[in-house]
Amino acid sequence: MKGCVFGSHRVIEPVGSLPQAAMRIDNSPDIMDNEILIDVRTLNVDSASFTQIREACRDDVDEIAKMIKSIVESRGKLQNPVTGSGGMLIGTVSQIGESLADRNLKLGDRIATLVSLSLTPLLIEKIENVYIDRDQVDIKGSAVLFESGIYAKLPDDLPERLSLAVLDVAGAPAQVDRLVSEGMTVAVMGAGGKSGVLCCYEAKKKAGPSGRVIAVEYSRENTRRLLEMGLADEIIIGDATKPLEIYDRVKSVTDDGLCDVVINNVNVPGTEMSSILSTRTGGTVYFFSMATSFTKAALGAEGVGKDIDMIIGNGYAEGHADLALNILRESSKIRELFEKLYV
Ligand code: NAP
Repeated sequence: MKGCVFGSHRVIEPVGSLPQAAMRIDNSPDIMDNEILIDVRTLNVDSASFTQIREACRDDVDEIAKMIKSIVESRGKLQNPVTGSGGMLIGTVSQIGESLADRNLKLGDRIATLVSLSLTPLLIEKIENVYIDRDQVDIKGSAVLFESGIYAKLPDDLPERLSLAVLDVAGAPAQVDRLVSEGMTVAVMGAGGKSGVLCCYEAKKKAGPSGRVIAVEYSRENTRRLLEMGLADEIIIGDATKPLEIYDRVKSVTDDGLCDVVINNVNVPGTEMSSILSTRTGGTVYFFSMATSFTKAALGAEGVGKDIDMIIGNGYAEGHADLALNILRESSKIRELFEKLYV
């Protein structure tokens, strides 16, 4: 028997909603003919979610494990009740529904899901390890992909954990690839983090020698790394939750011209206005951050009279997985850094 392409047949409450918006979904490993069952190995928890969980558990690893298990037990999926966000996972294909037999996939294939854990039916039997500095959690358990669920086969030339880390944020550099063109001035907020580094690289590549990439970053250590890797033309060490400070400094380094494109990759709330104020009239802000408030961005932009385009951070863009993984193949410096941080 086939279920809904988008997985609505697994929604327990509220009936009629789709799995992402649902409060609770059925995480049973008994799959329909148009579902795929995955033997899960590692979860990559979304940074905004993991940061919130770490804070709530005061970095106590056992408490973090308990909290993750309890979210999944009550919701049937790893959707942080505070941030609403999820993450993604890697594992091996353990069952393929009959009607998906024509997929280029076989039992035992190692895959990464490219749809959010906030909608993926997940059953955790055991939490084996929490990697507090990598936002990753090894588990024993299973997950289900719906017919519409996208995934990537894990490449053989990159370590699994590295691919997992990069695929989690693949949508960000893919959007930079679309939005940035030669000669543009681009600011990346939260530039020293995982998606920030990939976005800086892609922005430098697309804006070219006549363009400029401004990295806005909180920590001195991350800033030093960006400079060493040549990923930014200007560095602003500052707090993106302080809009006027960031605005003044962006204004100063752009001779009042501000930015054509601003990419927001910060993992804490309250950074909408520093992105909006740093964008020139007619420019674009891409809010990749899951800590973004639609209300704050929309009303805030109106409140300061900014006629700009604001894009919600859709994590999916066609070809995003290959584009992001290729950055690791093109840049040995980024690969080296990410291997140190995430493998
Ligand atoms: P990350 O590696 O943790 O990077 C976040 C960066 O923001 C870090 O460099 C951090 O610096 C910096 N930061 C924190 N507070 C700041 C502040 N007040 N001012 C300036 N910079 C600050 O996170 P990530 O994995 O790249 O993810 C970034 C965002 O994308 C998160 O919100 C995540 O939830 C979201 N995300 C979205 C999607 C999607 O589909 N749209 C998918 C995955 C992730 P420190 O290291 O010094 O704290």
